[in-house]
Amino acid sequence: MATGFFWDEKCFWHGGGDYALTLPLGDFVQPLAAGGLPENPETKRRLKNLIEVSGLISELDVQSAEPADWLELARVHPESFLRKFKETSDAGGGEIGLRTPFLKGGFEIAALSAGLAKEALSQVLDGRLDNAYALSRPPGHHCLPDWPNGFCLLANIAIAIEAAIAAGQATRFAVVDWDVHHGNGTEAIFYDRDDVLTISIHQEHNYPLETGDITERGTGAGVGYNMNVPLPPGAGHTTYIDVIERIVQPALADFRPDVIIVACGFDASAFDPLARMLATADTFRAMTAQMMQSAKHLCDGKLLLVHEGGYSEAYVPFCGHAVLEELADSTAHVPDPMAATLTKRQPSERMQTFLNALVTDMADQLLD
Ligand code: ZN
Repeated sequence: MATGFFWDEKCFWHGGGDYALTLPLGDFVQPLAAGGLPENPETKRRLKNLIEVSGLISELDVQSAEPADWLELARVHPESFLRKFKETSDAGGGEIGLRTPFLKGGFEIAALSAGLAKEALSQVLDGRLDNAYALSRPPGHHCLPDWPNGFCLLANIAIAIEAAIAAGQATRFAVVDWDVHHGNGTEAIFYDRDDVLTISIHQEHNYPLETGDITERGTGAGVGYNMNVPLPPGAGHTTYIDVIERIVQPALADFRPDVIIVACGFDASAFDPLARMLATADTFRAMTAQMMQSAKHLCDGKLLLVHEGGYSEAYVPFCGHAVLEELADSTAHVPDPMAATLTKRQPSERMQTFLNALVTDMADQLLD
C-alpha cells in the first residue's frame, strides 16, 4: 500500500493560443516575453521536478494511465461536443470554448488528463493504493458538459466518478474543491444529484464572475448536495482551516461518502497572479491533513487529490510538495522558503475577527 502519483509528460505538452495572462493578443495587448496563458506546463513540471530533487518521489507509487476512452468521456460530455473537439484537434488545434486553446492532439492529451484521474480513483477505490494524487493537465473543474472554459477542456473528476459508478466501485462521492475559483463545471454536472456532494471554496466573484453564490444549493434530488463557500479577497491560513473544520468536515460526516475527491488547485496561494488570497504551503498541508482525517473516519482513508489550477511557477511546487508529504506521511521535508514572510502577511487580528464571523454565518446557513 502506498500513495499513488499519476502523471504523464504528455500532459505537459498541451498548449496553444495567443494570450498575455488571460488577455487575447491584439489592440493594446503586447505579447509577453514568456508568453501564453497562465495555465502553462511549468507550475506542474516544477512540482514533479521538486519531488524528484527532494527524494519524495521514491516513496510514491508513480504511474501513468491510459486516456479515458470515448464511452467514458461520453458519460459526461455530449458526443456532438466530443466530435467537434476531436475534429478541431485533428485539424491542427484551435479553441472551442473560453480560454481553452489547444494544439494538434489536444483532444488526446485532455483524454489522458482525465484518464489519470480515472485510474487514480479506481485504484484508491479498489484498495490498491492508500490514497493518490493525479497531476492532471489540462485541468477540469470549470468544464461544462458542452462548453470548455477557464483552461478546462474535459471534466476530469466527473469522468472519473462516472467510470467508478459504471464499474460498481462506489456509489457516494464527495468533491471538495479548494481551487480559488468556483468549481462551476463539477457543480453543474452533479447539480440535480444526491449521490455526489459538491463543495467549492473560492474567492467570491473571481472566475466565473456569475456563479458560486452561497445560495446555489442544488436542484431536484440534488437540493442540499451542493455547497458554495465564497470568501472575500485576503482570506488566509486561519480562514481556510476554519472553513474545512467548521463547514466541510461536518458536511462530509453528514453525507458519509465512499471516497473524498479534492479538486486541488494551488491558486489560493499568496503569490498567485489570478487571485488574491493568502494561503501558504502550510495551509495546503493542513487542509490535506484535515481531508485525511475525514477520510479515515468516513471511508477507510479513501482520498484522491486531482490537480486543478495554481499559477505561481515559483511557489506552486512548494505547496504541492507539502500536500504530497502529508499524503505519503513522508519525512522528505522541503521547507517553505516564504514561510517567514507569509506568516506575517496574514490578516490582522481585527480582520480575522471579521472573517471568523463570516465563517460562522456561512456555517449557520449551509449546515442544518
Ligand atoms: Zn483556479
